[in-house]
Amino acid sequence: MTDWREYLHLLQTPCYVYAWAEILARLKLLKDNLPENVHLYYAVKANSNLHLLKALKDKVDGLDISSDGEFEQAVLAGYAPQTFSFAGPGKTDAEIELAINSGCGSLSAESLDDLARIENIAQKLGKTAYVSLRVNPADLVEKFALKMGGKPTQFGFDEEDLAGLPKLKQAQIIGLHVYAGTQCLDAAALTENLQNIFKLAKKIGAPLRQINVGGGFGVDYHIGQEPLDAVAVCQALRKEAQKWPQTKIVLELGRYLIAPAGEYLCRVINIKKSRGKTFVIVDGGMHQNISAAGNLGQIIKKNYKIRNLTNPESEKCKVELVGCLCTPLDTLAVNLELPAPRPGDVLCVANSGAYGYTASPLLFLGHPTPSEYLLQDGKITLIRRGRRLVEFN
Ligand SMILES: *Cc1c(COP(=O)(O)O)cnc(C)c1O
Repeated sequence: MTDWREYLHLLQTPCYVYAWAEILARLKLLKDNLPENVHLYYAVKANSNLHLLKALKDKVDGLDISSDGEFEQAVLAGYAPQTFSFAGPGKTDAEIELAINSGCGSLSAESLDDLARIENIAQKLGKTAYVSLRVNPADLVEKFALKMGGKPTQFGFDEEDLAGLPKLKQAQIIGLHVYAGTQCLDAAALTENLQNIFKLAKKIGAPLRQINVGGGFGVDYHIGQEPLDAVAVCQALRKEAQKWPQTKIVLELGRYLIAPAGEYLCRVINIKKSRGKTFVIVDGGMHQNISAAGNLGQIIKKNYKIRNLTNPESEKCKVELVGCLCTPLDTLAVNLELPAPRPGDVLCVANSGAYGYTASPLLFLGHPTPSEYLLQDGKITLIRRGRRLVEFN
């Protein structure tokens, strides 16, 4: 974690700050432990900041894309569509056309209907569509916090339906894609998931140029959580990938690469006592960091790791950390132990680099969006300024 105190005078709160060195360290750990035929893809939806995408361009082998907006943002950042894996349960005709016309490396078909639509559009365009079959595997791996497989879902072919594939002319099946779940901190469970995917690939039997094994690497967001042993998972992947030397194996990661590099800084506006509790009210909130607020699918409220940057030495106290929105949902932490904050103090929420800016309802209540800064080689750069609602007109 970076000590942002020496940069505070340069930052406007609320803001996100990203530490480039942390991203590089994670990339290096993965690259050092993966064989050549494993290609590391970055999932743009975790954080689509243009400056970050540009910085990542020479560091990753491709991108996981979920919409035409992300597609355009990635092209703007200088990526070639040949390195894209485009997946999503509700791709529009326009998105499929965009992917086919630009020679998108892999377009995931998520059902028989989806495959038929891709085939029809490719025929109409007279071009080849490079398709991966996204499969919802029958085996459920329990340790994923967020599951996309092993149950009825909108994602991917049910494994049982793979037998009935139609004859195709313009859609060329190049690969298999399984993204069964995410936010897994258990290396053994991730390993089991990988082994299941390679078993499935064998069962399919057809020659596969590409196997996209998803990712699901989790982040130790909450106090008391242990980090994932990513090296162990990479070693397990290495073992499997070595049995497929001619195949491009894709590992697609979002949060693992970027969440720990990003921190969310907000400033205390008011301290309010109410019926024995201390409410610390900040100038940010769930409209800017929905993940920390736990409104992105968390069932039991757990606190992110939060520091008082301005007064790290003050006496510890228990507080309710809330944002400035007019809803009780806007709660960043409950019963949080923190060095006693005072109005004006800057608080720092760790592990906020992914699904903070991109997943939050930024326009809710019309506050300016948070600024974003990158710390690289000791220099801090504003990489997206905060915008006010009127500027979106
Ligand atoms: C969102 C997504 C990812 C990235 O997930 P993380 O949890 O951020 O690692 C990877 N692949 C697909 C298909 C996705 O939809």
